[in-house]
Amino acid sequence: MCGIVGYIGKEPSKILINKLKKLEYRGYDSAGIAVGSVNNIRIFKAVGEIKNLEKTVVPAKDAAFGIGHTRWATHGKPDETNAHPHLSSDRKWIVVHNGIIENYAVLKEKLSGKGYAFYSETDTEVIAKLLEYYSGKTCGDLNIIAETLAALKGSFALGIINAEKDGIYFAKNKSPLFIARNGENVMLASDIICFKGFAEEYYALPDGVFGFADKNGIKFFDSIGETDIKPCILDLDEYDDLNKYKHFMLKEIYETKSAVKNILEYYSGINIDKVFSGCDFGKIKRIKFVGCGTAYHACLLGAIAVEEKTGIECGAFVASEFRYSDPKISEDTLVVLISQSGETADTLAALEQAKVKGAYTVAIVNVEYSTLKKGAHAYLPIKAGVEIAVASTKAFSAQLVVLEIFAEMLAEKFGIKHANFEGVRKLYENFDYGNVNSYKLLADALRYNDRLFMIGRGRDYCIAQEASLKIKETSYINSDTYYAGELKHGFLALIDEQTYVIVFATQKNVLQKTLCNAEEARARGAKIILFTCFDLDQSETENFYYVIKIKEIDGGLQNVLSIVPWQIIAYYTSVSKGINPDKPRNLAKSVTVE
Ligand code: GLU
Repeated sequence: MCGIVGYIGKEPSKILINKLKKLEYRGYDSAGIAVGSVNNIRIFKAVGEIKNLEKTVVPAKDAAFGIGHTRWATHGKPDETNAHPHLSSDRKWIVVHNGIIENYAVLKEKLSGKGYAFYSETDTEVIAKLLEYYSGKTCGDLNIIAETLAALKGSFALGIINAEKDGIYFAKNKSPLFIARNGENVMLASDIICFKGFAEEYYALPDGVFGFADKNGIKFFDSIGETDIKPCILDLDEYDDLNKYKHFMLKEIYETKSAVKNILEYYSGINIDKVFSGCDFGKIKRIKFVGCGTAYHACLLGAIAVEEKTGIECGAFVASEFRYSDPKISEDTLVVLISQSGETADTLAALEQAKVKGAYTVAIVNVEYSTLKKGAHAYLPIKAGVEIAVASTKAFSAQLVVLEIFAEMLAEKFGIKHANFEGVRKLYENFDYGNVNSYKLLADALRYNDRLFMIGRGRDYCIAQEASLKIKETSYINSDTYYAGELKHGFLALIDEQTYVIVFATQKNVLQKTLCNAEEARARGAKIILFTCFDLDQSETENFYYVIKIKEIDGGLQNVLSIVPWQIIAYYTSVSKGINPDKPRNLAKSVTVE
């Protein structure tokens, strides 16, 4: 999940540090750069965020190029030794890597047998050692790199320096990598956001491509030989500014309403036939929604919304399970893949699997230049704008809104009714962040807790899952979610006077049933926090510890108004515990490894 960057031009250390800060959302447990000129490369590394690395870097006047890395450790703890760049034994080859080398253990054993000594626990170090190994077997850097790549199994975006050469080598397989040029200056990066202000176009590297860049230009190669890649226009949303907010998480929560507006504007003029061109709806018998984490919770709600509106059998699946479960997919299946970044490794693998089995695929993404968007037959952008904070907020809400629109579109394609986006308009007009002071009070109460239970039925259960995830991610509180009706089938045994049970009750048809479940927990001493959109009699709520009442709107979009308070509560709980909610420990925003 790391971010890699490379730069050819003046003051490379300054540029690399700035760009690594932009890529920090991809990982922030340690970082490093290699900068300099031919036969004069210096390496700097530091544990933690880029600002720690920045303090250690001593800029060199004659430095002309460099590569950098911000890490989310997959192999080996986050310390300076394991931080990238990694080196060959002769210090000639210097490598930064995003991805996982799946056969690294076999390669390491083989190379150790040939006398190579390894200093780190990373999978990446085998790449540097392999480059040295093939330097003794074949001639020419590009041949050496091609041999090395052929030996690797797994995912990689690589920036490579040969200390004796002026320039940067690169390679890509299943991890994102982009390159751009401005005169004699070249930039390599895991995300095109780095190119803002640098270039107006860039090259998106396909899998299997490697190459070399120096001040004279960029050359691309694939397994056949030199190849051509067409440049793409750089088209990015503005995002950098925190404005008045202390953290991106809070800023992004408060951008939810404008995301709903963007969605409404974009989809109001949509040509539904064009969106789903090539899909034979007459054949479709089932719809599968696939995602990870927050996106999986959107899948749960998407499956409910689409099944309700179309009557077609729908199911939601966690991508990391789906890809290894031999899912029942054929030409009669629509597979919907949801990912904020569009680079989630497990979701991309599910996409490939679905395509191989003949399904029609639909990507629901935020990042519109992503691999998921490019790979699916159809795509529905969520129009949320750049999301920086690791815990997804506005993107989740936007996914729910787009799923509601998707359900309407499908109802039209299946000949049930004309698509109608009035529900989204009503959501926008009635959008309400609620009583933030009451959320802050609740956050104060929750921060001392180390176990929470959240219960609900149907859609409320799905929202409880996402609320629970937000609390876990940002506040490190163990929070479990159960179907309200499951209380008596086991977890009631965990309830005592110290337990908070948060009861999600925003659906009229199961309101009384859910309230009864709340009473069952209260009877065992639990403190009940009721979360509802209904005006209840005082007699129904007087024994509860806390009640949060939110605005009521019709239909499935109630879920958007239901999740926003929990995002705010999670934010304030995190801040009151002294945690940086934008960068929770051990996590990263874009999960590009399995
Ligand atoms: N596998 C490499 C490491 O652990 C890179 C990790 C990544 O890209 O997430 O250092």
